[in-house]
Amino acid sequence: MKRLIRPEFLYSNETFIKEYAVLVEDDYIMETGPADEMNRKYPDAVEDIWENLILVPGTVNIHNHCFQSLLRGLACDRPFLEWRDKALYAYSNKFTRDHIYQGAVFAFSEMMRHGVTTVCDFFYLHHFGVESDELIIQAAKDVGIRLVIARTMYDWTGAPKGYVETVADAVANTRTIAKRYNGKDDMVKIIPAPHSLHAASPAMIQAGHQLAKELGTGFHIHIAEEKFQVEDAKKKFNGKTHLEILDSLGVVDETLTIVHGVWLKDTEVELLGERGGSLAYCPSSNMFLADGITDLPAMLKNHVTIGLGSDGACSNNRNSVFEEMRMAALLQKANTCDAMCVNYKDVFRMGTENGGKILGIPVGKIEKGYKADFVGITAEDLSMQPISESLEQLLPNIVYSMQPSAIRKVMVNGTLTVNYGKNLTIPEEDVIKEVKRVMKELKEGSTGPSAG
Ligand SMILES: [Zn+2]
Repeated sequence: MKRLIRPEFLYSNETFIKEYAVLVEDDYIMETGPADEMNRKYPDAVEDIWENLILVPGTVNIHNHCFQSLLRGLACDRPFLEWRDKALYAYSNKFTRDHIYQGAVFAFSEMMRHGVTTVCDFFYLHHFGVESDELIIQAAKDVGIRLVIARTMYDWTGAPKGYVETVADAVANTRTIAKRYNGKDDMVKIIPAPHSLHAASPAMIQAGHQLAKELGTGFHIHIAEEKFQVEDAKKKFNGKTHLEILDSLGVVDETLTIVHGVWLKDTEVELLGERGGSLAYCPSSNMFLADGITDLPAMLKNHVTIGLGSDGACSNNRNSVFEEMRMAALLQKANTCDAMCVNYKDVFRMGTENGGKILGIPVGKIEKGYKADFVGITAEDLSMQPISESLEQLLPNIVYSMQPSAIRKVMVNGTLTVNYGKNLTIPEEDVIKEVKRVMKELKEGSTGPSAG
């Protein structure tokens, strides 16, 4: 079916155009052009008027842990390891199948309401093998969001048992679920994700990299998040720092996306850029956990592709990429005392098309051949005013002043999922009801089968 979506303003090539329309056929963008001309050219297309709305690409959340939404508010204002133990480690093994599913519904519903149309979930509750992955895939389908699972490969046995797999099992399970979805389902993609240098052995990291090559995907890994992690690794790996260790394992190339990258030397950033690697930048989470500040200007200078992530909702504690655009820009300006070190166009690109580029899927741009993933924003919201005739304030307002109340419509894969600011798939009140029930069970100590 052909549809002609007619917003008031359309975002294209970093500017806004008035009275432009997008032709969508099923789930793809076919063409954009002046609305009247498009109407004449495609008389059979069904007209879909997004009245008074500004059409922008859906945002891409490049790093999240969906189950952590249920742990929000449980361990705030604590050092990293205390936060980890009181939130993640205290609850992870208690998650039943139902809790995993409901946690994902909760996380995905909230972020979609805030304009996320694609999420990459770095997922490691493996108690139920690939069935765990299927549960969050089902949740994404029920919510209507596009999902990339960075399926975590984790063999450090000091963590909750549910996270841990042998190298052979991690490879087999990741391959199984990837073959089930990659290239067969446009709404789901699986990529390997060795957890980190502290939670994945060198053999696991190399296996993840090799599997990425086999599957034709990238791979994600947490790198240099906390300063102490770099010091610990130096002791274990002959004085080498994180990216140097990855390089010695032969895995630094264009398939690599590092998450965080806070504590890197200049030479490591240069290496990442030279080899065509990417960064998943999570500014709010880095602030929340007192990690430190990633050197974004150095990343930009070295042509590292940067996407934005909310990280888990118990280390942020919000779940919005528009929020991360604002945080990325403000934090970097404060850190460098340079108001021009990064601008609103840079961070908007990071939260949209760069995310699509890193994940290897055609999302994040309103252009022919891209997926019909859109956010409709109203300018008739106090947080979006004023706008001038020349429209030059639209993008800075979206990045710096917009509140979620201005997000009125969301479309994912050609299907309207949010209208008048309300989720159309699973109503917010139903999600809240389930969150309350699940939290009661988790607090009362109902345990999953592999607890221990
Ligand atoms: Zn993470």
